[in-house]
Order: sequence, then C-alpha cells, then structure tokens
Amino acid sequence: MSGARVLVVGGGLTAAALASRLSGLAVGVTCWDKAYQSGGRMTTKRHNNSQVDLGPQFITKKYGGEESIFKDLVDSGTIKPVRMINNDSNNFNFIDNDNETKGSTKPTPKEHKLNAVGVDDTIRMIYDDLGDGSDIACSLTYLVKPDNYVAVNGSDQIVDHFWKKSSVKLHTEHFLDGLDSVDKQWVASSSAQGKQETFDAVVFTQPVPQYINFHSPEGRPIGNYLDIMKENKKIFEQLEKVRYYSSFSLGIMYNETQTLALDWSVKYFPTNKILRYVCVDSVRRGRPLEPTSILVQTQRAWSEENLHLDKHQACPIILAELQAQVGDLPEPDHVFPHRWRYSQTAAPFSGSPGAVVLNDSPLLIGAGDSFAVSNVEGCLYSAKVAAGMIKRLLVAN
Ligand SMILES: Cc1cc2nc3c(=O)[nH]c(=O)nc-3n(C[C@H](O)[C@H](O)[C@H](O)COP(=O)(O)OP(=O)(O)OC[C@H]3O[C@@H](n4cnc5c(N)ncnc54)[C@H](O)[C@@H]3O)c2cc1C
Repeated sequence: MSGARVLVVGGGLTAAALASRLSGLAVGVTCWDKAYQSGGRMTTKRHNNSQVDLGPQFITKKYGGEESIFKDLVDSGTIKPVRMINNDSNNFNFIDNDNETKGSTKPTPKEHKLNAVGVDDTIRMIYDDLGDGSDIACSLTYLVKPDNYVAVNGSDQIVDHFWKKSSVKLHTEHFLDGLDSVDKQWVASSSAQGKQETFDAVVFTQPVPQYINFHSPEGRPIGNYLDIMKENKKIFEQLEKVRYYSSFSLGIMYNETQTLALDWSVKYFPTNKILRYVCVDSVRRGRPLEPTSILVQTQRAWSEENLHLDKHQACPIILAELQAQVGDLPEPDHVFPHRWRYSQTAAPFSGSPGAVVLNDSPLLIGAGDSFAVSNVEGCLYSAKVAAGMIKRLLVAN
C-alpha cells in the first residue's frame, strides 16, 4: 500500500531505530511519545554542566546481527568500547580499548561476567510460530567474546542518533489515549493535543503492561483495540505473561569535578537490601574531568516492595543507605530521583521474536523490549523485525 500512514507509539530506542529503518520506504511515519523529551528509558538527566544516565549503563554487543550499526555508533563518537578491571568480585574500574591499543601501562584486565552488568544472559533469539522474522532471527550469532561500550555523552544520544538518521520528527507530549479500529483503519487520539488522526498501521513500542493492563497507573489508551487484540487468544495469553522488574535510580550531580575517596568506579551490592549498583557516572562514561555525577540503582525486590513510594519519598531512604555503604560524599548540587515501574523485562514475550503482529487489518504490531532481550541490542533487533513486518504486510500489499 503505497503512501500508507504508520503511527509509531514511543520515542525510545525501538521507535527511533524503527523510524530510521522505515525512512526511504513509501510510508508516512508519525511518532508520538507521551514524555517531554525523546529517549524513553535511555534517559540522561542534565543539570548545569553535569549529566547522568538514569537507565542503561553498558551496551553489550553479544550477537553478530548489528555490526554496521555498532560501527556507525562508534564512528560517530556516540559510544566507545570499554573493558572493566575487576578489582575484586564486585568493584570495577575502567580502561577504554583505545588507550589499551595505544600501549597503556594499566594492568591486564580480567574480563567481567556479562551478568554483572545486568545483561540478561538467558535470552533466546529464536524464531517461533508467532514471529514473522525467521530469516533475521536465524542470522544472529552468539559472539564468543562480547564487546562492551559506554555512551560517552549520555545514553539518550544513542536514541538521538537514530532520530537524526530517520528524519522523522518525534512529537513529544503526545500521549496516545485513544485507539479505535474504524473501517480497517486506526483512529488514534491524543486528547491533550486535541489530535485525532487516521493511520493504516500502528506500532506499540511501550512495555506491554502499559497497553493491556486495566489499572496501569500511567493509564492505558481507551478504545476497541484491546478487544480486537483479545480475539487472538494465543497471543493475548502470551502478552499477559510479559513481566517487568521495577527499580529506583538516583542521579547525584555536582557543578564541579569532585575528588572522591573511592577506589572503584562501579560497585555491585549483591547482598544489600536496598542498593544494587553504584557508579561514578562521569568516570564510567570516560569523562573523569567533567563535573562529577554518581548513579545509584536499587535492588529489584526492594523496589517492588516499595513501589507505593513516589520518587521523592524513596530518595532519602536510598541516600541514607548510600552513605552507610560508601561513607560521606560531598554535598550534591542536585539529586534526580526516578522510579522505574517498568525497568527491564523479567519475562519477555515467549520466544523473544522481536515483534509480533497483534492484529492483521488494520495492522497492529507489538515491538520493543517486551518482545526481545531488554537491552540495546534487543531493541535494535526488535526494530529490524518490526520494519520487516511493515515492508511485507503493508508496503508490499
Ligand atoms: C534502570 C535501567 C537500567 C538499564 N540498564 C541497561 C543496560 O545497562 N544496558 C542495556 O542495554 N539496557 C539497559 N536497560 C534497558 C534499556 O533501557 C531498554 O531495553 C530500552 O531503553 C527500551 O527501549 P524501548 O524503546 O523498547 O522502550 P522505551 O524506552 O520504554 O520507550 C517506550 C516509550 O513509549 C512511551 N509511551 C508509553 N506509553 C505511551 C502512550 N500511551 N502514548 C505515547 N507514548 C507512550 C514512553 O514515554 C517511552 O518513551 C536498562 C533500563 C533501565 C530502566
């Protein structure tokens, strides 16, 4: 269908990578995100000259499917390869691979375990009969020695990289709050913007619970799309099984570079009740001379027990535990707390197919990390599968 209109819901990595894959096709792409800025969970907070990533910390290339995209991200200076020196089982420092090849005198790094950086090691990129991208899924190869990267100027820059490539304008503060099928088209509404538009296809990239749960605190869209999705019982049952972890993040920011009495840049707290991970974010990104920033992430179990707390209520509890564990830190100039109700997938859609057709006509596709591994590579894979579906099911027809 030449000239078909596609609405991509979301402004995170999956949406941006999908929009860039659709550029050049004979489809009109519109993107709506409810947030006031792009990035989704790849959120970077900035305050004066300081910045901190509240979401992804390490980007791991574990499968061989996206070599050219990773090369492009490295060549554009968006990401940089790093290795961690394991001081002991939970403390890490960094070297970057550039320095190593230039003859760094630093000690030989001991490779860290992938799981230590929160990357789900158990994911299977296996096509199953609900998917529609076997050719892509089968081309993925597990890399014996995965590469790790950091986003030097913030994880949101990875997402921006794809928005720029796509030439699609992301409409922020566009909450999709209504979606109805009328005469084989989707009528999508964003009431706050006074908008109602018609599309031939819609792609959801937000976490599945945000569009199937009745009591989602963010409010799922109203409309007949949910009843239509429920008609495919097999798929809907799988959607209901998608689960997410929750967590709180604190970004601690300084206006100047600080000298901290810490002999690590990253520390994991496997047995602490509240803290899970702390890093000196500016150092992690390879920017030790920037104004210092520190990131704190909480344990998933503690976060789930404390989801009733809003981010401002959780903040002093987390700060008190941080002080107990790492000692006094200089008084911060700014603290950004954030509550992630949906942080990373605990249980993705069965078989992790990348994307799934939720309705044939009008076309509705579910994409994002609910359908893949919950990391950068998984989102790139999801975007690839979803783009393939649009090409086959919309453009080719
Ligand atoms: C704390 C944390 C740590 C992480 N660590 C890592 C890591 O170290 N390495 C790694 O690779 N990955 C990590 N991840 C996972 C990674 O961030 C996600 O897999 C990825 O960002 C998901 O991108 P997405 O585009 O699929 O979804 P999202 O980024 O969630 O994008 C969905 C978008 O949809 C929007 N939206 C929702 N509902 C609506 C609506 N009704 N209307 C309009 N817009 C809507 C949201 O605002 C959001 O922007 C981490 C995530 C978190 C939270």
